[in-house]
Amino acid sequence: MKTQKDDIELICSVGELSDLFNEPRGVSAFLQKVVDTVSKHMHSDVCSIYLFNEKDRQLTLEATRGLNPELIGNLQLSLDEGLVGITLKRLHSILEQDGRESDFYKAIDNSGEETYKAFLAVPILRGLTRIGVLAVQHHKVGYFDKKDSRVLKAIASQLATTLENARMLTNMSRESTKPKQSQTDVHIVSGTAVGQGVARGRSFTLESNAPGKQYLRASSDNYLETHEDFKNALAQTEKQLKELQQHLDEELSDMASMIFSAHILMLKDESFSGEMENLIQLGTKPHTSVLQVVNRFVDIFSTADNSRLQEKVQDVKDLGHRLLLNLSPQEDQSGDYSGQVVIAQELLPSELIKLSAQKVEGLILFGGGASAHISILAASLGINLIYTDDERVLDLPEDLDIILDGNQGNIIIEPDEKTSLRFDELLQTQAKMAQLEEQVDEETRTACGRRIDLLASINLLSDIKSANRLKADGIGLYRSEFPFLIRNDFPTEEEQFRVYHNVTHDINRGFVTLRTLDIGGDKILSYVPEAQGDNPFLGLRALRFLLKNKKIFVGQLKAMLRAGEDCDLRIMFPLVSSLDDFLQAKTMVEKSMEFLDRDGLSYNAKPKLGVMIELPSAVFMVNELAMEADFMSIGTNDLVQYLLGVDRTNSSVASLFQGEHPAVLKAINQVVQASITHNCHLSMCGNLTKDKRLLYIFVGMGIKSFSVAPQRIPMMQAFIGGIDFKKAQQDAEEVLKLTTTEDVITFLEQRVP
Ligand code: PEP
Ligand code: MG
Repeated sequence: MKTQKDDIELICSVGELSDLFNEPRGVSAFLQKVVDTVSKHMHSDVCSIYLFNEKDRQLTLEATRGLNPELIGNLQLSLDEGLVGITLKRLHSILEQDGRESDFYKAIDNSGEETYKAFLAVPILRGLTRIGVLAVQHHKVGYFDKKDSRVLKAIASQLATTLENARMLTNMSRESTKPKQSQTDVHIVSGTAVGQGVARGRSFTLESNAPGKQYLRASSDNYLETHEDFKNALAQTEKQLKELQQHLDEELSDMASMIFSAHILMLKDESFSGEMENLIQLGTKPHTSVLQVVNRFVDIFSTADNSRLQEKVQDVKDLGHRLLLNLSPQEDQSGDYSGQVVIAQELLPSELIKLSAQKVEGLILFGGGASAHISILAASLGINLIYTDDERVLDLPEDLDIILDGNQGNIIIEPDEKTSLRFDELLQTQAKMAQLEEQVDEETRTACGRRIDLLASINLLSDIKSANRLKADGIGLYRSEFPFLIRNDFPTEEEQFRVYHNVTHDINRGFVTLRTLDIGGDKILSYVPEAQGDNPFLGLRALRFLLKNKKIFVGQLKAMLRAGEDCDLRIMFPLVSSLDDFLQAKTMVEKSMEFLDRDGLSYNAKPKLGVMIELPSAVFMVNELAMEADFMSIGTNDLVQYLLGVDRTNSSVASLFQGEHPAVLKAINQVVQASITHNCHLSMCGNLTKDKRLLYIFVGMGIKSFSVAPQRIPMMQAFIGGIDFKKAQQDAEEVLKLTTTEDVITFLEQRVP
């Protein structure tokens, strides 16, 4: 009977309930007290509280009087599920004479609610933040009315703050106690892939900004326990690190230079392994002492003012990961990341190299967008990498089965059997692609026999092996900044000479184009603060940086001139914005030659000097530049970025980075025309040629030389082999008349073979 409901008294009692939270009774006891009190005063058969978890966007039944108590903590509803879900989705109360008649009714097995008809639920909100749902049910149809709804809303609003705290506590305690597999309802996360490979491994979070998540966590319940075990793990770790360093020195002679030195030093430090020893002697288990000391270092480094110290957070976690693995009982322990997909927020080039050396299966990076140099480096190292803006990846528990599907840019978490099978097929396709790689011809020609040069873009010395194997016609771009990027200081002229000497001598055929330093933008050297600052892409980048730092410029030019003594050497300047820039750069080359003469060192006295066309200003000055330069190269990554004003590393504007934009096509055509008029050799580099439709148009415009990642040569050769040049030429002429991007896209879809 309605008269039995004592609403006013109820509201007062609930006001008092808030105080109960301070008693040491625990969250669930408090919530239970709330539902008991509400149902008692409303004489309802059922009263339940559901709390909402923003991360997984699920409501969980946290307390109930009247429903099966076994469902507490186990019944989860999305915002589209049931009357309860819809209440929170729509943010207003739902009052049903008979809930079972509603379109949104969802029967819950074993809930015991079959006999309850009348239904009333109100959202619990703090402002617009969803906290949960308070729901009552009664066996009599139409038992609740609008007044009840107002009262229940008042209760919900009084309790909102307290329930928000309760929610935080239940979420936290659930995080630490939930079995691993049920910790996530995320199954597919989309992102942007670097490369098109597929990889699979177990999740391991290397870096996260989420509270508490930046710490190293144990990924097993089973570690070796004695002091002796710890000593063995320490010795094993040191041995592995030394081997890794040696291996890197051999494989990546340009980059490696003591890249694991910080690890080795730290490992031996009294405050690190010594402190672990102390803890063990005081009775702490070895793996716990590793965690304690590592996480103390994580705290110290992550809160340091000095950015160089902050960068050490990953080193110390990486070392902790290795120590823990070496404390695991499995045999054949390598301490590596083989079989693991590492999740991180941001990576430095040196960290990427370390992960690659430690055989990481794949990488997931959370954050703003594909930082160009990390993507380029990952591609060179053959690492499967997916960037995502979906921060849920940072909350993934350790040791989940993860597939990185580079073809679709998807991260698949805990795949079902069907997906696993599909993944196997993808792997087979990958193997077939590798076979196709081997079938590469000496020369690339269009169907009608026009010769096209496919040059290699080289980032690491190790890329040269692929370039030779895949019969690159020469080196169209050597990005000299990579050896600089992973170090803590500038390599000396002599060190640079050794690296460039390998580049010029290891390539089997064709000319070698060494590009001078392109730092700034997203390629920041921690030891060069001037290249940082707001808008780094518009700051002291590339040639601008070198023209301001002439000593560094001359050092690099001298090393390049010496290394190219007996080869067809080209030196190329990035981000040339004017004829003045180029003339100044030429003067610097002359000066460098004078220094070399003075030092009595031999060098290439007739290198070809070229400009990269990457800025709109260079396009406007292209005739003048073509008259002055020996060659030109269109850097499509930057040209599109600066022409369209779209940050190449910002994934939120990635859809605006359009090579089909008529302005891009017209600019490129202008460069082609200037190169023909002034007989200045032209090639094109950057990612735009990854799009076959655009590649077709560029061939049609008359470009005869492309510089690409060596792995792309076979596919490009096969595609170019199918192009009829005359037809491509006509299509290029037509496409240049189009005035909207949409028309260009439609045209390309219709015309390109
Ligand atoms: C480009 O801008 O297209 C290019 C090849 O240079 P990078 O990607 O190194 O800036
Ligand atoms: Mg560029």
